[in-house]
Amino acid sequence: MSIPALMPVYPRCDVRPVKGEHCHLIDEDGTRYLDFASGIAVNLLGHSHQGLIGAIQKQAETLMHVSNLYGSPQGERLAQMLVDKTFADTVFFTNSGAEAVECAIKTARAFHQHEGGDPARTELITFTSAFHGRTMATISASNQAKMHHGFLPLLEGFQYCEFDDLEAARAMIGPKTAGFLVEPIQGEGGIRPASQEFMQGLRDLADEHGLMLVLDEVQCGVARTGKLYAHELYGITPDIVATAKGIGGGFPLGACMATEHAARGMTFGTHGSTYGGNPLAMAAGTAVMEAVANDEFLEHVRDTGARLKAKLEQFIGNYPELFELVRGEGLMLGIKMKVESRPFFQHLRDKHQLLTVAAGDNTLRVLPPLVIGDAEIDEFFDKLSAGAADYTVPDAS
Ligand SMILES: *Cc1c(COP(=O)(O)O)cnc(C)c1O
Repeated sequence: MSIPALMPVYPRCDVRPVKGEHCHLIDEDGTRYLDFASGIAVNLLGHSHQGLIGAIQKQAETLMHVSNLYGSPQGERLAQMLVDKTFADTVFFTNSGAEAVECAIKTARAFHQHEGGDPARTELITFTSAFHGRTMATISASNQAKMHHGFLPLLEGFQYCEFDDLEAARAMIGPKTAGFLVEPIQGEGGIRPASQEFMQGLRDLADEHGLMLVLDEVQCGVARTGKLYAHELYGITPDIVATAKGIGGGFPLGACMATEHAARGMTFGTHGSTYGGNPLAMAAGTAVMEAVANDEFLEHVRDTGARLKAKLEQFIGNYPELFELVRGEGLMLGIKMKVESRPFFQHLRDKHQLLTVAAGDNTLRVLPPLVIGDAEIDEFFDKLSAGAADYTVPDAS
């Protein structure tokens, strides 16, 4: 047998974390890393957060799982918190981001296939360099061939349009269009925020043509940008939003949120999930929401993010041959590089014990836990400066 026991779909690196302490990870051999990756925008309260641990522990001792055959006081509570704090009127809980996007796609289609709709409207317009997950529907929603390879045929019903090109999106609307599916700030694509004109324009087009505006906020949602959801930065109201990653603070949890109007097709028996919304996940989500969904915390993220971004912008000026620009909002920041970003990200990790995330468009993603303070920012710049100073760009061969 030569295939590893863990299916070899990830090119895993040699860092093998076994313990987390606030904004640091500790490896099997005791090496300490500064974690500015947060499990890809997940651990927003850092590691070993006492409130989150306590909530999960208490719920695990009380009741872990019962299925959705029964009433859910735990689910009602978290759904109500989300309804109170967001555009949404109703929430479906999932276990992951891709499942949240799947539910969002189904909700958008069901809107048109429901009474009063136009069942011919089955297609969502999606955007280049998008990432929506790894299920068949969510890879079909992305134009990235590397995710399709080996898994054909794709699912029908997606049309790819240039990201941030409003005129192209307008031109693509036809009698089969059901709506738009878009990340307000692309994550995997390289921390690329959509422009104000684009997001407002999609909202206007959706209103004009009776289409659904579906946002994938799996990475940019849950306080990451300094707003509870990134669309608030644009002052627009979506119809449907997929959220996950940060919402469980490390516990697998996602949700599809919708307005009452948009959710009209999601009636008894139309959708389901065995684990989705189980009491343990609800305890984690409730603890996270209690910690982040308040003005004080969001202001901390905005202030810290602004400080980190300003310092980064100043810093990259010292290495004009390596870095091009800094972009993003709050603590969802990206450094676009002039050289390949992946080898530099590996160098920071292996030589300087600084964890970041590589992304598309030669971007280095800076996604720290949202609870960082000055000590972590100082440590980050110590490591980043040292890393830039002793970096040799590998030969392009
Ligand atoms: C991570 C991500 C997903 C997929 O989430 P999973 O939990 O891995 O299924 C979907 N959309 C965006 C924008 C993401 O960043």
